[in-house]
Amino acid sequence: MNAPAIVWFRNDLRIADNPALAAAARSGAPLVGLYILDDASPGQWRPGAAADWWLHHSLAALTETLAERGVQLTLRRGRAQFVFEQIIAETGAGAVFWNRLYEPWAMRRDEEIIAQLRDDGVKAHCFHESLLFEPGTVRTKQGESFRTFTPFWRACLAAPPPDRPLPAPKSLHAAPLTPDSEDLDAWRLLPQNPDWAVGLRNAWLVGETAARAELSDFARNHVADYKSERDFLGRVGVSRLSPHLHFGELSPREVWRAISEPASIGGEAYLRELGWREFCHHLLIAHRDMPDCPLDRSFERFPYRDDEAALDAWRRGQTGYPLVDAAMRELWITGWMHNRARMVSASFLIKHLLIDWRKGERWFWDTLVDADLANNSANWQWVAGCGADAAPYFRIFNPALQGEKFDPDGAYVRRYVPELAGLDARYIHRPWAAPEDILRAAGVRLGVTYPHPIVDHAQARERALAAFEHMRSLAALREA
Ligand code: FAD
Repeated sequence: MNAPAIVWFRNDLRIADNPALAAAARSGAPLVGLYILDDASPGQWRPGAAADWWLHHSLAALTETLAERGVQLTLRRGRAQFVFEQIIAETGAGAVFWNRLYEPWAMRRDEEIIAQLRDDGVKAHCFHESLLFEPGTVRTKQGESFRTFTPFWRACLAAPPPDRPLPAPKSLHAAPLTPDSEDLDAWRLLPQNPDWAVGLRNAWLVGETAARAELSDFARNHVADYKSERDFLGRVGVSRLSPHLHFGELSPREVWRAISEPASIGGEAYLRELGWREFCHHLLIAHRDMPDCPLDRSFERFPYRDDEAALDAWRRGQTGYPLVDAAMRELWITGWMHNRARMVSASFLIKHLLIDWRKGERWFWDTLVDADLANNSANWQWVAGCGADAAPYFRIFNPALQGEKFDPDGAYVRRYVPELAGLDARYIHRPWAAPEDILRAAGVRLGVTYPHPIVDHAQARERALAAFEHMRSLAALREA
């Protein structure tokens, strides 16, 4: 009889368009499904609490889907290298199938596991899956990796289009002896006491089936308006597919197909955003230290401030700038934040408060359900002005103007900053400018029910520009 094959699930928690699962099924070997919770290998980039919450539910969903096809998902916690030693001894498996990941720690670990399996005479089969275009295949004419987005995306669009997604296998052939599985609840990925996840439960349906339903609703009803609606807060302008994509409940190829057929202007704008996801991953592969070090090294000398009180006010949504506060509370309540709000709140931390982007990156890492090493670090660097193709440092968002433009009736602020809900749209993004009688009528007492702004916008802007000039003069001195 054929030796069993292990299908190692990682951030590809689905059965449709899963090349590793499809190839393992085609091999004819009886299958063992495996998920390893490896806390040690990611080091300081072990997923945060919100991502753990998502992972729990996604694993529960995958366990059920595989069980319907007769295969058990075996759960094991420990260093992947040790888990493989155990599982191979227990099952006599002759092959392991998995889809590639591109986090630097995961790439290092994969190399070690491939060598270990080779030494044990077990075959390793790895597949390209989590991106539309395989890393290394999209390069400049000189064969280098791109540093700017537009030519990168042009080169992607000129390449052969992504393959058609593979269908979900209808049935799978399970190994006769399945190894023991640990208990998912015992992994304690869900919050214990206090239970802070009520907002997450209200905001999300997790798992492949829910993800596919979200995708088809977005493709059918919303993508046509994506270009004009995507920046507006508090409307259904964006897809909210990011956590499903991060955990691989949907493949990017499936999203590509659903959005590009039939072609539309909204669809084109949407695919361009998927292009940013590709670009961030290609950058992380080319710059493995991107989560920790500015790509523009002159920013190593940027005079950031240590200000725990201001950092804390930002985290808790108590800065006195309604749009920033709504954004930070949306993150805390739902584990997700709209892209426009991410840009404004990140810019506020870095430029208004002059706090190091890495502190914001870390907070997002711990609180986002879609926390993704490539997307998070590349975008924080983009906002900080130190990344590839970054926003120029001197472009400093005015949070009140951003609110008036992208949340004109104040619905977003009203939802997440209820203490301002009674203010009319004229003042909701700048309560400090409201006359006393209007504040009183709305039940707002500045400094009591809602904070005064923790920094003055004009002064903060001047301070940020002065800090940037200081850094530039240091860089010029070094070059002289
Ligand atoms: P849509 O607008 O519907 O876009 C579709 C998909 O395209 C998204 O699901 C996402 O996969 C991709 N995408 C869109 N915008 C970007 C972008 N700027 N960069 C990379 N991919 C993009 N995204 C994450 O997935 N994880 C993160 O940890 C993350 N951290 C961020 C931190 C900051 C400071 C900023 C400014 C952005 C960050 N983003 C991150 C990118 C972006 O904000 C989210 O991908 C997007 O808001 C997700 O919502 P959506 O699925 O509705 O996006």
